[in-house]
Amino acid sequence: MKTIYMDHSATTPVDPRVFDAIIPYYNDVFGNASSVHTPGQKARQAVEDARDKVAALIKATPQEIIFTGGGTEADNQALIGYMQANAHRGKHIITSAIEHHAVLDTCEYLHKQGYDLTVLPVNPLGVVEPQVLKDAMREDTVLVSIMHANNEIGTIEPIKELAAVAHEGGAVFHTDAVQSFGKLDINVREMGIDMLSASAHKLYGPKGIGCLYVNKKIRLAKLLHGGAQERNRRAGTENVPAIVGFGVAAELAGENRLESQARLSELGVRLQNGILERVPHSRLTGHPTLRLPGSVSVCFEFVEGESVLLMLDSYGIAASSGSACTSGSLDPSHVLLAIGLPHVIAHGSLRLTLGHSNTEEDVEYVLDIIPKVVKSLRKMSPLYKDAGGVA
Ligand code: PLP
Repeated sequence: MKTIYMDHSATTPVDPRVFDAIIPYYNDVFGNASSVHTPGQKARQAVEDARDKVAALIKATPQEIIFTGGGTEADNQALIGYMQANAHRGKHIITSAIEHHAVLDTCEYLHKQGYDLTVLPVNPLGVVEPQVLKDAMREDTVLVSIMHANNEIGTIEPIKELAAVAHEGGAVFHTDAVQSFGKLDINVREMGIDMLSASAHKLYGPKGIGCLYVNKKIRLAKLLHGGAQERNRRAGTENVPAIVGFGVAAELAGENRLESQARLSELGVRLQNGILERVPHSRLTGHPTLRLPGSVSVCFEFVEGESVLLMLDSYGIAASSGSACTSGSLDPSHVLLAIGLPHVIAHGSLRLTLGHSNTEEDVEYVLDIIPKVVKSLRKMSPLYKDAGGVA
């Protein structure tokens, strides 16, 4: 059976062009990028070429890019590094209730270390309203971290406005752009972004490599100690093949962005509308229009998201859910609760995120299967019968 992969927000396959570009850096050009000899210098050149490509995608300068071991490390480096280096300026951090745990848990960690933390609510569409940020700003607020696009519900945040509010209050602005990097147009200067996290495996690059963009005016404390790599900002021998792969993935994303955005938006809208039309008691989560292209997130009443996932998997469809069991806890996703969904509805969530491989036929197939899956699960649901539902 063919697998229809609709979980591109979790990770993407490595693009064959990225794969081909990486291989020589495991055997032919294997030097340590810190070595002075020719093999080392060839590796160094490859790292710097990749840095140029990654920086170009967001209109940063190459010197402002620090390669990291992925999005999680970039978020930790931004938040911990900034607060440790700037504690004398103030101790208050602001973030939002729908951040990825890489940001939320890091903020909680800092809170335990004695920093003050405000977690902003979002509106029912998952938007952090600039006025809400403005009201939360304090004299001692030094850092605001709000994600560019949400990984569960796809909502795109008003980053430019939020950054302006942060700056007016004298704080710097970090955004977790792991889901939007390479998919949405990002210009760090125009948008007022001081720090930005990205990860290669969401844009057809390898896993375990990402970057933090840091505006050249900003000083950070180091997270890792033990070497002067990355201009003394991130110790450890550079992962040259992964960095090369990230560079090529960023370049390809830049070239294909507009075309891919239009295609995925169209497929996503078709999938979203088809589900809402064909499945009774279903609702969209997140913003109806300001959302990541190809990101569909819905909730079905009277079913468990986990059961839907397992049944979809038996039909060869790979999707995801913010429901309880997938995340290993009894509570549904913090994002769905933050947009005000009651637990019972949040438990029935399904996320389908489209990517390069998906076709119109895939969308039609999934639209055929989902109503059947939900119907058969509802047949077994006492809640559905109690509510007068006819399976
Ligand atoms: N931030 C967001 C919004 C994400 O979606 C993810 C991964 O899903 C991360 C951070 C973590 O990135 P990584 O897997 O590269 O550590």
